[in-house]
Amino acid sequence: MGPPRYRAGLEVLTEWTGIINVEDFVNSQLQLIIELQKLDRRIFQILDAQRKAPELLQSAESPLQDILSRLQTLKSTGESLATQQRSSERELATQEDSLHKVRSRLSELKTNKEYQAHLFEIEQARKKKSSIEESVLEVMERVEENSTAAKELEEQAGEAQKVFDAEKLRLDSQSAELGKEIADLERQQQVVADTVEKPLLTRYNRLKTLRKGFAVAEVHDGSCGGCRLQLPPQLVAEVRRGDELMDCSYCHRILFMAHHLEVETLD
Ligand SMILES: [Zn+2]
Repeated sequence: MGPPRYRAGLEVLTEWTGIINVEDFVNSQLQLIIELQKLDRRIFQILDAQRKAPELLQSAESPLQDILSRLQTLKSTGESLATQQRSSERELATQEDSLHKVRSRLSELKTNKEYQAHLFEIEQARKKKSSIEESVLEVMERVEENSTAAKELEEQAGEAQKVFDAEKLRLDSQSAELGKEIADLERQQQVVADTVEKPLLTRYNRLKTLRKGFAVAEVHDGSCGGCRLQLPPQLVAEVRRGDELMDCSYCHRILFMAHHLEVETLD
């Protein structure tokens, strides 16, 4: 059986650690909330990453979506070109038919005048036919171009799909890893939180919410590591003495100094 958690405060702590002075107790509480902050910061980071995950997935998919939408446009162009081609071909067949009919009337002609008129009629019908033929060829060319472009784009879509699938797999496994990590961190956080004095924990949690996860700050060269403002020398001296947990006068974060971490009071 391990030592009792020191949620009961100084008495229990003294009982099992032999810590008898208030500085050591304050120091041990400080170490706990610093540890709690480390856990909370990582939890915060993970929650942030999880919030951004759908956005990442969406942006990983966007090249593929872009290609697919261009492909869709090409396909509908292809369909309308095919309709155009069929209608031109029908028109051509009709025109060929009427040219044939005009030509077959040759035997009915009696006079030279009629013959001349007939030749003119044939010429007109031939011209019309060749103009329709041209437009059939033009449409066929566009159909060909369109289908080549669609084939190229389909290949690109296949590649983009592969890239996206791999990225999705990576993001999914990352998300599963983070899910495991956060469950583990939350368990650790619970254990540490249970050992912090209740009023201090309340103070810590309130600050954590107000200060976006940074409730505890180290004093550097007389300044608060949280808000960077210069602290009154008297306050710095009190933090150094360490017989009470002191707040930054400006951002109210709980202050500590490097030496608080170096002294290992808890085994
Ligand atoms: Zn501050």
